Amino acid sequence: MIVIDGSEGEGGGQVVRNACALSLVTGQPFRITNIRGRREKPGLMRQHLTAIEAACALGGAECEGLELRSSELTFRPGKVTAGDYRFAIGTAGSTGLVLQTVLMPLVLADGPSTLVLEGGTHNMMAPPFEFIERVFLPVLNRMGPTATARLVRHGFFPKGGGRIEVEITPAPLRKIDCMERGPLEACSATALIAALPFEIAERELRMARKLLPDWPEEAFAVRQLPEQVGPGNALLLEARFANVTEIVTGFGKLGVSSEALAKTAAQRMAGYLASRAFAGPYLADQLILPFALAGGGSFTTVKPSQHARTAADIVALFTGRRFGFAQQADGTHLVALT
Ligand code: AMP
Repeated sequence: MIVIDGSEGEGGGQVVRNACALSLVTGQPFRITNIRGRREKPGLMRQHLTAIEAACALGGAECEGLELRSSELTFRPGKVTAGDYRFAIGTAGSTGLVLQTVLMPLVLADGPSTLVLEGGTHNMMAPPFEFIERVFLPVLNRMGPTATARLVRHGFFPKGGGRIEVEITPAPLRKIDCMERGPLEACSATALIAALPFEIAERELRMARKLLPDWPEEAFAVRQLPEQVGPGNALLLEARFANVTEIVTGFGKLGVSSEALAKTAAQRMAGYLASRAFAGPYLADQLILPFALAGGGSFTTVKPSQHARTAADIVALFTGRRFGFAQQADGTHLVALT
């Protein structure tokens, strides 16, 4: 039995999600203690329960300790069954994070699947829908499978009520090398706003425009969403290169000014644009699992995050293979199995 100390490394929910995914794919059971030991409110939250329940449902797994606030979990995988699944988080918990848990097992399953996920679609500290659709899945699809995502309804914190649908046609994962992002083809700054003053979105765009002076005027737009999905606000900064897209998101939050949110997001985008890296910090940690399961391949990234290093540590526990993070002469880091 693989034993994981959930407070080591990054010490968040990703440790649990990646462990479930790897357990289902490799058939090895695991026990995790000190779940989310480095978070302010440690233990399993509602969205983690849904993610693990989803893994159990499609992977025939058995669990002990699957309760709200639980700090210890034992997970025994069964056989992954492709099919049509619907998982409702019941709160604004992130649909993207539930997807992170079950996607790899379904991508490697023996038939096509569809997933309906209900909850939050634009949550802080989670990949927003657009990131999944336009940043992560295109790279995964280049590795062989076909996974497409559709946003049916936005879900913002605290209300939730969002819905995404994902179609997955499995295929063995191919090793790919993602070294160059290629030329910049398009960029956009979109302020999503629902049931909140329009002026919030305008202020965000004004600040983003100031900090991204090379982006054309028409790249900046407000997208007003139906009142009933609100209140909600997010600023999405998107840069599409020939080989990869990066999306940096600022999530509207009470107590954080529109300017501050937009400034942080725009500075992060400017940092990525100034580098030559293929993957931004979030894509990098999310690519660790598929690249591990492909058994090779490589990509360049900005300074590797603790999330990426912890994902690599979990991979090593299940596969015995380690990732190297080697800084290169141009300042990017090369991530590859050693
Ligand atoms: P954890 O903090 O352990 O629950 O993991 C959070 C996950 O969400 C990681 O895989 C991050 O890459 C991802 N994530 C967090 N914020 C963003 C963001 N703004 N855009 C894309 N992915 C994100």
